[in-house]
Amino acid sequence: MSLQGLFAKISGDEIAHLTRELVRFDTTNPPGNERRAVEFVAESLKPFGFECLFLEHETQRATLLARLQGSGERGALVFNGHIDVVPVGVESWQHPPFEGVIDGGKVWGRGAADMKGGVAAMMAAAKAVAQADLALKGDLILTVTAGEEVDMLGARALAALPEARHWQAVIISEPTSNRLGLAERGVFWPEITTYGKTAHGSTPELGVNAVMMMVKLLAEFEKLDIPFQPHPVLGEFTRSVNTIHGGVKVNVVPDRCSVMVDMRTLPGQDHAELMRLLEAFLARLAGEIPGFRATIRLTYELPPAETPQEAEAVQKFLFAAKAHCGVDLPIVKVPFATEAGVFVPTLGLSTLILGPGDPALAHQPDEFVGIAEMEEAARLYIAAAVEMLAA
Ligand SMILES: [Zn+2]
Repeated sequence: MSLQGLFAKISGDEIAHLTRELVRFDTTNPPGNERRAVEFVAESLKPFGFECLFLEHETQRATLLARLQGSGERGALVFNGHIDVVPVGVESWQHPPFEGVIDGGKVWGRGAADMKGGVAAMMAAAKAVAQADLALKGDLILTVTAGEEVDMLGARALAALPEARHWQAVIISEPTSNRLGLAERGVFWPEITTYGKTAHGSTPELGVNAVMMMVKLLAEFEKLDIPFQPHPVLGEFTRSVNTIHGGVKVNVVPDRCSVMVDMRTLPGQDHAELMRLLEAFLARLAGEIPGFRATIRLTYELPPAETPQEAEAVQKFLFAAKAHCGVDLPIVKVPFATEAGVFVPTLGLSTLILGPGDPALAHQPDEFVGIAEMEEAARLYIAAAVEMLAA
């Protein structure tokens, strides 16, 4: 079947204007304020037969689930994107961050690449499918989430829906320059604190210095072996001690020192096991260093996520891209954590990450997304929907 008729229903102009409208909602998270933006998406889709359900978070915050009903013979295909953005920062922007200026074949603004452009491309694709009178064997669902940039509250609410277990696949339109991501590293952020005993700075022998205990801990931490299998696409497990706080005053022996460590885990690394390894490490130091006492607390985590290339949904997507769009999709590393870290570990869902925009522009000043790239993404989403729901 040729999809030219379907592809003709989308235009770069329409997607650019949708992106501009979405950029104009300031959804900086925190606090998010995503509700008006997801209501806008719902109002755009309702005339095309989508039933819209809001998952309520707070007064100004909600996640949208918009459904185009299929016959139910197959699980739903979910187009997913988040609508919140990270703060603008202090650098000045060439184009104002919340105006959605269209210039030079691009839409400019905070969230253009990460990932309002991707949401706009999915909206256009969903509308085109709805207008095509295809006999859908499963629902086409568009989910637009709140909270991705902080705690993934929208994705967690979606994953808790009983129906989510029966979804066929999720496509996330995070920026990958329209290449396909199937795996991402996990996030593991422990805070480690050493304890001591205060004393006057002039009589350190009467105290226990928590900062010096941390110095000893960090020297051993550098040598600590944390096992992992290098991943063919994701590469290595990494760890980096990125903050340190200790002491109150130059003439007081500190009784407390804390570090935060950013660890990025690989598929196959179990977070509970990693925590046990770190606890055993602290216990060993307590046995070796007189007066040593330390605790560890996990401040945030998201498990690593991987969808195998052999998965049916992946194979169908690769086939559809080739057959209908003439594209051989390269499989690439996703450099950041996405909502796949919620959908894959909790539901075992095949989750594919592909969207317009350069991933290097995410969270940067002068963010933009290319209009032609958004159009190409929309065609790929249409091809995926036809292959997975109507073929
Ligand atoms: Zn994002």
